[in-house]
Amino acid sequence: MSGWRSLARADLLDFGGYDAAEPEHGYVRLHANEAHWQPAGGDDGLNRYPVPQPAELVRRMGACYGVADEAVLATRGSDDAIDVLVRAFCRAGQDSVLVCPPTFGMYEVAARIQGAGIVRVPLERDLGFTLDFDGVLAAWRPPVRLVFVCSPNNPTGNLVVSRRELEALCRELAGKAMVVVDEAYLEFAGAASAASMLADHGNLVVLRTLSKAFALAGARCGALLARPDLVAHLRGLLPPYPLPAPSVARAVAQLDMEALRALDEHVARCRAERERFARRLTESAGVRRVWPSRANFLLVETHGDSQRLIAACRAAGVLIRDVGRQEGLANCVRITVGAPEETDRVIECLRAAEMAGA
Ligand SMILES: *Cc1c(COP(=O)(O)O)cnc(C)c1O
Repeated sequence: MSGWRSLARADLLDFGGYDAAEPEHGYVRLHANEAHWQPAGGDDGLNRYPVPQPAELVRRMGACYGVADEAVLATRGSDDAIDVLVRAFCRAGQDSVLVCPPTFGMYEVAARIQGAGIVRVPLERDLGFTLDFDGVLAAWRPPVRLVFVCSPNNPTGNLVVSRRELEALCRELAGKAMVVVDEAYLEFAGAASAASMLADHGNLVVLRTLSKAFALAGARCGALLARPDLVAHLRGLLPPYPLPAPSVARAVAQLDMEALRALDEHVARCRAERERFARRLTESAGVRRVWPSRANFLLVETHGDSQRLIAACRAAGVLIRDVGRQEGLANCVRITVGAPEETDRVIECLRAAEMAGA
């Protein structure tokens, strides 16, 4: 058993997707209706369609994430990966995804667009926003095809499951649902990836992105890690030439050894600043609580109305995220760990908001 085939949309199982014009070296390309000239000012080959899954990018992602090349699907960020998973596993009007709020909003957005249902099993706030393991198993019904687990979770910042629990979740849901672990912030957590569990669990998918620690949000590059046969299947459901060539070139450069060492330094600095910022916030009178974070942002609960802080920050030219309408997060904001001079401005805004509210 492959572990995923019985859960995927049966109507797409033998669908190979669009027949893209693969690059074949040494041939004159008259099979893709491209221009044979370079655009004005360009000599970078952008007149040609890019390779659908660039081998060097896939190889470097595989090496970086500790999996074989065949286990990597390069995507336009994790958003693209989430979207293709929902389309591959959920029949409109029939199947559902399971999410654990408060969490990343794109799981529900992708489900809405596909016409899939949404089952919500809130994280356990009193236990530091950890996964309600028994609640997830109890909520499972045959239409639930995908269970999204975001760890470290956005916007709470914590690891929501232990490795042992994740193993158990995959085991309990084998043949019932795919477990999709979103590791967008894993570099900041210094924890092990679930990717090493792919060999043992055919219903596991891991999402990684270059948007956060790799500082390439504008390039729109991410990776979906899964069993090779699932990667091959999903590849056929992506657009024929998903990855723009300039983005691929930047991503490949960012995944070499020297760039990875620089990344480690940035991540270490971000973690140090995260702790400094958290301390200063905790000392501020207007802050009720700062949750421990393993990511590059902090979840902060204000005393009283969080709109005062949000408005004070905006007036000072700083945008912070209002997450107060999410499950269990009344008067909470999510603040990215920026440069020290940027987070200092937030502290100043807190003082201003306190004075305005006093
Ligand atoms: C930022 C983020 C992503 C990254 O999305 P991209 O499309 O790769 O930019 C994925 N998951 C979560 C939880 C995020 O917060």
